[in-house]
Amino acid sequence: MSADRHDDAALLHFDLIVIGGGSGGLAAAFRAAEYGQRVAVLEPQLLGGTCVNVGCVPKKAMWLAADLGQRIRQAAQLGFDLPADGRGGFDWPKFITDRQRYIHGIHESYRKRLDRDGILVLPSRGRLAGQDRVECEDGTCLTAPHIVLAAGSHPVRPDVPGAELGAISDDFFRWCDAPPRVAIIGGGYIAIELGGVLQALGSQVDICVREQRLLRQADAELVTQLQENYCQQGIDLVFGYGLKALHREADGRLQLEAVDGSLRSGYDAVLFATGRRPNTGDLGLDSVGITPDAGGNIPVDAWQATPAPGVYAVGDICGCGPTLTPVAIAAARRLCDRLFGGKPDAKLDADNVPSVVFSHPPLAMVGLTEAQAREVHGDDVHVYRSNFRPMREALAESTQRSLFKLICVGDERRVVGIHLLGDAADEILQGFAVALKMGATLDDLHDTVAIHPTSAEEVVLMR
Ligand code: NDP
Repeated sequence: MSADRHDDAALLHFDLIVIGGGSGGLAAAFRAAEYGQRVAVLEPQLLGGTCVNVGCVPKKAMWLAADLGQRIRQAAQLGFDLPADGRGGFDWPKFITDRQRYIHGIHESYRKRLDRDGILVLPSRGRLAGQDRVECEDGTCLTAPHIVLAAGSHPVRPDVPGAELGAISDDFFRWCDAPPRVAIIGGGYIAIELGGVLQALGSQVDICVREQRLLRQADAELVTQLQENYCQQGIDLVFGYGLKALHREADGRLQLEAVDGSLRSGYDAVLFATGRRPNTGDLGLDSVGITPDAGGNIPVDAWQATPAPGVYAVGDICGCGPTLTPVAIAAARRLCDRLFGGKPDAKLDADNVPSVVFSHPPLAMVGLTEAQAREVHGDDVHVYRSNFRPMREALAESTQRSLFKLICVGDERRVVGIHLLGDAADEILQGFAVALKMGATLDDLHDTVAIHPTSAEEVVLMR
């Protein structure tokens, strides 16, 4: 459908208007179109939003390059004829070209599908202008009985003097080489992922965290093992660090000033990985009586419905459940199944959502951590663990270790948490997450014959 002219009154009315063409918004649009609905999507920037353009996809590409770099260094140790440090020769700009070509392919496939499904895409911001009304930047008004807000979120810098000198994850994806020395502020997903990538691709990385550990939401034992692995890789982890200010030094490099007055100097780049905030700024929420919470999240119920009738929200903008791409997609599809597909009970099940931190090695988790399980189930928690050196690490005489952990409850040892830190954990977890959701017990795992020799077999052998 052409978006060139939309002054025809028939074109202005839709069954569904989606504000935001990221993963959640597009999932809603595609699912509604499958049910024969007339859909308009408003997206002023690149299709695919954070995930495709400045998130999961380019991050995974960089992680693959970093992983390959680590493997090349191991290969040199295992007898392959390569430079001993294995670091020579990574052409970062060439890799970026390949990465962006891949992303361009995703844009193209979205375009084709949008055209095929007759979805109108307007390259404009959208603003609510009443219950069933959305105003475009040029003043055009669209109407629909259903409106989905899916405008996503943006990275935030801490409120300290000099914060503008630091970069955010969006900037990282524009970098064309590894800065020699980098400080990362924050200890969550993005700090761990980008810190691991940069260290593997040649930077000296310091990660400065205000807590006493990385990744508050993950199982403490796995995080301890990850921290050990990261330290062995040469990353400097600085805990209990309170940032007071950022300064430019005489030589142009950056200096961190801590709240205790100490200084850390000589950084070529400082990267803030201090969380994200929903993009609710200019959405016209007032016009329909929606008030974001203190974190800027749009309030929704279990059905993605906001307090305004006919207005829904999915993804990072409402922060319900984990702020992950597949969660936004799942929520959007179920919402449209309910609104247009005759499935009145369809809604997101935000329990037991598996997720992976693309560290080196990756950390994959589903269900309760040991601490969460003990809070819910008290003493009736049974923990099984396997701490091992995978074959490739052992062959290369590396000290990097994997840690797999099962959290079970009750006499029947029902599995309520699976936590995997190790090579291929990102690929191993998905199937076991199905088992956990289906109520698998430790006996079910033991009844499954192991695949040998793999890391994955540890999951069915733990006792
Ligand atoms: P996170 O919420 O995961 O982590 C933010 C970190 O920054 C925490 O360590 C937090 O500390 C710290 N922090 C917050 N404010 C400040 C401050 N003012 N000064 C110093 N430190 C501060 O956010 P990220 O930015 O890492 O990622 C955002 C979200 O994106 C993630 O939560 C996740 O949902 C998603 N994501 C998912 C990925 C995946 O699935 N692989 C990859 C990347 C992102 P404290 O804990 O003390 O609050």
